[in-house]
Amino acid sequence: MTPPEYKRCTKCGETKHRSEFNRDSHKKSGLQSSCKRCQRIASRKWREKNPEKAAERNRRWHRENRERVSENNKRWNKENPDRRAELNRRWTEQNRDRAAAHAKAKRERYPQKEQARAEVRRALRQGRLVRPEYCEECGGEGRPYKDGRSPIQAHHDDYSRPLDVRWLCRDCHIATHHGERPAMAFVAPGCQ
Ligand SMILES: [Zn+2]
Ligand SMILES: [Zn+2]
Ligand SMILES: [Zn+2]
Repeated sequence: MTPPEYKRCTKCGETKHRSEFNRDSHKKSGLQSSCKRCQRIASRKWREKNPEKAAERNRRWHRENRERVSENNKRWNKENPDRRAELNRRWTEQNRDRAAAHAKAKRERYPQKEQARAEVRRALRQGRLVRPEYCEECGGEGRPYKDGRSPIQAHHDDYSRPLDVRWLCRDCHIATHHGERPAMAFVAPGCQ
């Protein structure tokens, strides 16, 4: 028997196309009895009535699917570098306190990196270091930042020698830290 093209939802009573129903291999029609919209409404009601169970279920799902979720996220970030950067920027804007706390925690966790960065900033201001226009690695100018920051960044191979830097474009910088060239917009931790 070929499955029906249209089906009546047992909840709302509307006749809808089969694509409006989730699959259910136990059912003769191969589809669940209520439509996706009714199921969404029912599950939202259930979550509202059982917020703790819902949170626990959500946590469990994330735990059990952690790898898949993080793989998906990584892939999406790679394929959408500009949207990722935009989301990061918006998150920082809407979570100023948390963003500041993150930055502070990072500085405290890597005091040497932070000192090295500060040294570089000072040396740049005083002209003891000059930021070149081209990447030492690929010779390119680097992908520009929307906010006008230079895409050529100081990279430290050794934070205990703060003025011994390599000037790398964003992408080469990421590659240096991660061993590949992801397309993701990302400022490597501890470098500028
Ligand atoms: Zn329905
Ligand atoms: Zn480069
Ligand atoms: Zn670096």
